[in-house]
Amino acid sequence: MKVIVANHAGFCFGVKRAVEKAYEQLNKKDNIKTYTLGELIHNPHVVNDLYEKGIKSIEDINSINENSRIIIRTHGISEDLYSKLKEKNLEIEDMTCPFVKKVQNIVKKYYNNGYNIIIVGDEKHPEVRGVNGWCNNTAYIINSSENMEIIPKFNKACVVAQTTITQEQWEKVLKILKNKVKELISFNTICDATNKRQKAAEELSHIVDIMIVIGGKKSSNTQKLKKICEKNCKKTYQIESKEELNLILFKKDYTIGITAGASTPGYIINDVVNELMYKKGE
Ligand code: SF4
Repeated sequence: MKVIVANHAGFCFGVKRAVEKAYEQLNKKDNIKTYTLGELIHNPHVVNDLYEKGIKSIEDINSINENSRIIIRTHGISEDLYSKLKEKNLEIEDMTCPFVKKVQNIVKKYYNNGYNIIIVGDEKHPEVRGVNGWCNNTAYIINSSENMEIIPKFNKACVVAQTTITQEQWEKVLKILKNKVKELISFNTICDATNKRQKAAEELSHIVDIMIVIGGKKSSNTQKLKKICEKNCKKTYQIESKEELNLILFKKDYTIGITAGASTPGYIINDVVNELMYKKGE
């Protein structure tokens, strides 16, 4: 079997920075307890490792004492929650990815200038919920060109993208919006890391027999990679770790493509590749 790893796969810059910051806290000798606000990244291995080393993830800031340290993850948070963290006197390590911060700033600016805000993305995703919190939670959130009826006809609106959606998703929605909104200002805020991973995965999925997409089940960008690969390679599987390879049937003449979501650490990708090297296939 031949194994090819996509040119861009695994930890993106934003996730790498947040994970490094979390591990850095373990070396501090100041006796301040550190928490992450929500699971730091969509990867159970990293989240469990941090937990075992003493950095727990919390959902509710009322569950922790004042003067604790809190890490804001790459997805960012709402403006309101920011104020609450400060009121509680928590030490903040803000790891909001700069690409997400940019979306928050755009939304705040145009909302304050009287524009309706539209976010193309998943309304349940923490990044989108956070961005919505910079326009007083008034944004219209649409995930695909199929639910456009929720958008009324506007005179002026500003549209942004969740950083991890696909280019195709964005273009389809934008095309329809242009007919619905008189004055539409659009910002394609899909991040560079997402673009690169998606393009590399797409290219690879054309030339392999099986695509393995490594990443947390809750990871939005990993799910998108899987969708993209499935279009060209019917045998596309999403796994979180090498153990799940046992559920997949490999043939010895197969070429296997590997890609990984932005929250998948390099050591998990290496584990999967090494495991495949030892597999003989049928
Ligand atoms: S996927 Fe993009 S926006 Fe999200 S953390 Fe990584 S670099 Fe930042």
